[in-house]
Amino acid sequence: MTIFDKFQQLAEARRELEQSCDSFFNIVMQEIVSGTEAVVKGRPMILAGSNNYLGLSFDSDCIDAACDAARKEGTGTTGSRMANGTFSGHVALERELAEFFNRQGAIVFSTGYVANLAMLSTLVGPGEIILLDADCHASIYDGCRMGGAEVHRFRHNNPQDLAKRLRRLAKRNTTVLIVAEGLYSMLGDRAPLAEIVAVKEQYGAYLLVDEAHSLGVLGANGRGLAEEAGVEAGVDFVVGTFSKSLGAIGGFCVSNHPELNLVRYASRPYVFTASSSPSVIASTRMALKLLQKRPELRQRLWENANTLYHKLQDLGFAVGPEPSPVVAVKLEDKAEAFALWSGLLEHGVYVNLVLPPATPDGNCLLRSSVSAAHTPEQMERICQAFTAVRELTTVVQAG
Ligand code: PMP
Repeated sequence: MTIFDKFQQLAEARRELEQSCDSFFNIVMQEIVSGTEAVVKGRPMILAGSNNYLGLSFDSDCIDAACDAARKEGTGTTGSRMANGTFSGHVALERELAEFFNRQGAIVFSTGYVANLAMLSTLVGPGEIILLDADCHASIYDGCRMGGAEVHRFRHNNPQDLAKRLRRLAKRNTTVLIVAEGLYSMLGDRAPLAEIVAVKEQYGAYLLVDEAHSLGVLGANGRGLAEEAGVEAGVDFVVGTFSKSLGAIGGFCVSNHPELNLVRYASRPYVFTASSSPSVIASTRMALKLLQKRPELRQRLWENANTLYHKLQDLGFAVGPEPSPVVAVKLEDKAEAFALWSGLLEHGVYVNLVLPPATPDGNCLLRSSVSAAHTPEQMERICQAFTAVRELTTVVQAG
């Protein structure tokens, strides 16, 4: 008996997957050429699964800001915000985030995962209730577990089911926090946020929305789905990440509840980890400025999103329910998913292959995400690659 015996099943599953598709575990970006191109196995690759929605990871102003900050303040804070890790950049970014979202307060966390862990484990605890959309991200589930609140799920994007559960829970007479996402990360569908807010208000609950994939993507000013749906006042807490449209790493929560500031003192994922490096904070601050100054990036992102979504739909692929910068193809069969994913690699296009149980409905997903930085030529090459592998599916299905 060894400590690793419990990994046997995992090892076998991995061996089996490796036999079907050896590249799956061995993708290394040997060289990063730009926000949309890399070299993999010596071959140039268009990156079409990077969440780099506005293409800002290679923006020269963001890079300059990061380099300057590293030179002035060093490569890391080497400490938690509570000990020695609050630098003036953290405070400035919190102020800028609060201003951008028109909220009273903001907290910056080391990653989006940590932001969800911190907020969910601290806001609600034993004796209180969380009602979360069944398709919420793993970081939301983990935060719920960590806080010890009672967790109930409502059916994905189903406000009627949410209302039914709230009705049943009303007699418990305790605090309820509803959790949903803006744009869902796997299929790129939007939450019906106006309806969710109406239900929340009817039952006097609180609402936290994770706008990880909608910051910079949705809303006239890029503030996300709550802005697009016109319901920002009904959302108590907005959580997000710097790792997607802002091209860096980190997370945040903004709110109008003045007590948000107290979360800092009660939250283990805030207190017991090192704060973000000066370079990360500096590039994020610059990216947040550019997100506001350059609305054409959002426009280009949506042009690319519509191009890919409609192309894949025309090719007969089972895409998600609406056009979005996340364009997912659902496939029932693992072998087919591997064949298509490998085929796309051979045609120089990298997308995400997502397998159950990480997918919402038990299907395999070829998940693409487009960027404002994809050129028309790159979009054409991505579309051509899908056209080429579409033929391959017929072969796989027939064979
Ligand atoms: N929330 C959602 C909805 C996400 O998709 C992700 C990351 N994919 C996170 C949170 C975590 O963000 P980060 O990568 O910054 O930890």
